[in-house]
Amino acid sequence: MAKIGINIATGSLQQSEMIVGIDLGTTNSLVAIIHPESRQPVALQEHNSSSLVPSVVHFGEDGSVVVGEEAKKFLVLAPQSTIFSAKRLMGKSYNDIRTNASFFTYRIIDDNTESLVKVQVGSKFYSPVELSSLILKDLKQRAEHILKTPVTKAVITVPAYFNDAQRQATRDAGKLAGLDVLRILNEPTAASLAYGLGLNKEEEKTIAVYDLGGGTFDISILKITQGIFEVLSTNGDTYLGGDDFDQMIVKHWMEQLGISEASLIEDKTLAQELRLRAEAAKKWLSNNESFSDAVNGHQLRITRSQFEQAVQGLIRKTIDSCSQALRDAKLEKDAIDVVVMVGGSTRVPAVKQAVSSFFGKPVNDSVNPDEVVALGAAVQADILAGNNKEFLLLDITPLSLGIETMGGLMDVLISRNSKIPTKAARQYTTQKDGQSGMRISVYQGERDLVKDNRKLAEFNLEGIPGMPAGLPKVEVSFLINADGILVVRARELRSGVEQSIEVTPQYGLTDQQVENMLLDSLTHAQEDIKTRALVEARTEAGQLIETTERFVEKNGSYLTADEIEATRQAIATLQSVIASGNKDLISEKTEALNSVSRPYAERLMDEAVSKAISGKTLSDPI
Ligand code: AMP
Repeated sequence: MAKIGINIATGSLQQSEMIVGIDLGTTNSLVAIIHPESRQPVALQEHNSSSLVPSVVHFGEDGSVVVGEEAKKFLVLAPQSTIFSAKRLMGKSYNDIRTNASFFTYRIIDDNTESLVKVQVGSKFYSPVELSSLILKDLKQRAEHILKTPVTKAVITVPAYFNDAQRQATRDAGKLAGLDVLRILNEPTAASLAYGLGLNKEEEKTIAVYDLGGGTFDISILKITQGIFEVLSTNGDTYLGGDDFDQMIVKHWMEQLGISEASLIEDKTLAQELRLRAEAAKKWLSNNESFSDAVNGHQLRITRSQFEQAVQGLIRKTIDSCSQALRDAKLEKDAIDVVVMVGGSTRVPAVKQAVSSFFGKPVNDSVNPDEVVALGAAVQADILAGNNKEFLLLDITPLSLGIETMGGLMDVLISRNSKIPTKAARQYTTQKDGQSGMRISVYQGERDLVKDNRKLAEFNLEGIPGMPAGLPKVEVSFLINADGILVVRARELRSGVEQSIEVTPQYGLTDQQVENMLLDSLTHAQEDIKTRALVEARTEAGQLIETTERFVEKNGSYLTADEIEATRQAIATLQSVIASGNKDLISEKTEALNSVSRPYAERLMDEAVSKAISGKTLSDPI
């Protein structure tokens, strides 16, 4: 997955459906796409600059907002109005972050409640969602500038341990930035996809994704079966990363040079200088044996082995997390088939060695660890765009698809777990005489009432020629093509009137949401069965009243006064119980109305039949 410098002013990228992959990181963020020509994932970068955009937002006194490298410069100059690590605040209340509040140099509103945090800059307040949206907006603009095409759709990654609120917050940030977030993807899943893992349907693998960034450490154990990723366990430390490595080097120098804590607190510039040199030293030592430099007359030296000794304890901590993650996943080390390295700090050779020797196998580190998550997000985006025909992420429908029928009931046409492509059709009819239109509302979900499911689309079949109720034959067909696109068509068979619509059912639903919808249906199964029975009883009662009234109206002259009165009473009784939630009572009164009307309906029917027969005999002798 070599990096390809992109200069795409070519027509080939002028496609409207450019879906990008975005790694919205704690320290750095970046955007990747599948290169339309090479078909390889590439990180977007402007000429001569890094693909990484620091996740930092600076608010100028003049009301300006800058993001990225420009904003990073203000971290020291204007710490109160320069926001970093906004991701750590996503979906959090002040109580959630209380113990780490000192980490943030800007003002986080301490309202001591469970409500979501806000950040105060000057007289303005910003939610983490707004702050993240500013980063996303900037990434979007950069991408548009590089690609010379509008970017409106994205896959955004989040840590595997993000809860629903945090995922939703990320989705909202995307929306606010003008992006249609097609999927929220787990970072370890994205990293695996970037290594091509999970792209082969037959493959069954257990993967450990070791992600050591600038400020956070995550270990995730994933299982892929038939292209489906399952997170078995996660562990880590949200305040452990490369920054701590830098801190260890600073400590090493302070000891060597006899610089005290107090003097550093006083001399902020020296402190900052040392930190920057420490990071440079760390990076240098990833490829060299020793580092030396000078600051303010201080000779700064460190060898690789001194560095390794200094960070040994930190690396040990990450390995302990790996053990815990394995225990939580109830797996032995040798059950791990593949180890994937993510995050800039995995470039440290001692980290690679420790991870490799713990899992007892070589680690996968060929893809740039800073870009691997975004590259994987681009792979997923490409699959969603339907460009990757060989690999369909969604080879089964995760949830049932159907339409709304009488009484708000869900009528399932394609049940969940159906293999795609697939199709199904069913006939419906009108409820009223002369009804010329029919509303087709498409839903996704497992609940019996459509109101509990997710509405995907709605359209009207218009122009049905006037016919008595029940006569039109409206065939509704569902077709899910190989790209996972659902085409719903409604056709009145007698007249040929037709209408159709396309929807993409999986868009906008995270795996977690699908799971929640399924869980919901299980929790409410009993209640749903009851509701369905009640709705059906009510619908049946309503229909019986309607047909009986119509019958009496047409044939009143053939009925006795007693029959008409008994019918009127039975209808009134039934009407009075319909609103009740008592299904048995409704059924009982429906049956009562039926038994009043059945005798005269049969009598009239017989008369009509015998009339027809005698008529036939007379006029048409054989
Ligand atoms: P990330 O959050 O994944 O962007 O990781 C950034 C962290 O990786 C920072 O702490 C960087 O100092 C660190 N990093 C980047 N390049 C190297 C390198 N060559 N060797 C060691 N650490 C590095």
